[in-house]
Amino acid sequence: MMITDKFNRPLRDLRISVTDRCNFRCAYCMPAEVFGEGYRFLPREELLSFEEITRLTQILVRLGAVKLRLTGGEPLVRQDLEKLVAMLAPIDGVDDLALTTNAYFLPQKAEALREAGLQRVTVSLDSLDDEVFQRMNGRRASVDKVLEGIAAAEQVGFAPIKINTVVQRGVNDHTIVDLARYARERGWIIRFIEYMDVGTMNGWKMDDVVSAKEIVARIDAELPLEPIERNYRSEVARRYRYRDGSGEIGLITSVTQPFCGDCSRMRLSPEGSLFTCLFASEGTDLRGPMRDGASDDDLEAIIRNTWGSRIDRYSEERSEMTTPRREKVQMYHIGG
Ligand code: SAM
Ligand code: SF4
Ligand code: SF4
Repeated sequence: MMITDKFNRPLRDLRISVTDRCNFRCAYCMPAEVFGEGYRFLPREELLSFEEITRLTQILVRLGAVKLRLTGGEPLVRQDLEKLVAMLAPIDGVDDLALTTNAYFLPQKAEALREAGLQRVTVSLDSLDDEVFQRMNGRRASVDKVLEGIAAAEQVGFAPIKINTVVQRGVNDHTIVDLARYARERGWIIRFIEYMDVGTMNGWKMDDVVSAKEIVARIDAELPLEPIERNYRSEVARRYRYRDGSGEIGLITSVTQPFCGDCSRMRLSPEGSLFTCLFASEGTDLRGPMRDGASDDDLEAIIRNTWGSRIDRYSEERSEMTTPRREKVQMYHIGG
């Protein structure tokens, strides 16, 4: 039942954004000036219920999405997320069920998530320097708080932990070698992400991007690295290992070396729209038809059509553009 898009790319990964809310205000994602007191997040009734998410996921898995990732906003601010995990984990055909989180609520949640069947956890941590980190997250959490969350995840058996680090020039780039070293000592796999022009609100400029090449060079100068092969075709991270055999790092090169040609990701937004690209301006509504009584076959037809007509290759096109596209979905909405 595998489906392919206009460029013959299969559907393999599904990112499920369970909420548009977050307890952090990372300037590159949800800047505090924009997402202040008066900001109107989605009202509860507009969010898909866990039953609705599960139903759509079952259909998407039948169509090829074998890797699932829960994201947001901050997925752990959605109440009882472990219940959703317990509903998704047993779906026939799901090979991988992962979570991307800022780790703030992991001390309370890690055990329940593990018991519910979550397989892997990725934690976002941009610096070990508390001043730098707090500036980046809108002063919502200290480094220690995130480290506590990681420790809680490790304690219940999530290993190896993956770390996501967005690198911004002049903001945290001077702290990446320390972070790489710290991760290596603990057996964490760290992935450095080139700062992207997601959404329309982070004031992105090419000058703020530190290229993967530069990131590798800076780490290699202190901790020698060598490239390794990808695990599978649509793996987005370029991987390097330490020459002394002590672990690996990944680079998400979405800006300087786009990987649209192998992109097999579908994104489901909290209110039930499908997005075929991180930079799409519009999604395809599934909640409306679902709440109007569409059958699984009807929903499957919409999904087939959405993926079947997919021509997205924004990151490749970006290199050809002089100004960033103005209409884009926001990152906190579809979860990266
Ligand atoms: N709140 C969770 C977290 O931060 O891990 C999950 C959602 S967050 C939107 C998913 C990932 O997107 C995070 O690792 C975050 O660092 C990354 N991200 C957000 N804005 C970004 C940007 N402008 N460029 C690159 N990565 C970004
Ligand atoms: Fe929240 Fe994650 Fe966005 Fe930071 S990156 S504001 S933690 S959703
Ligand atoms: Fe996939 Fe769109 Fe990113 Fe290209 S820009 S890799 S199509 S999500």
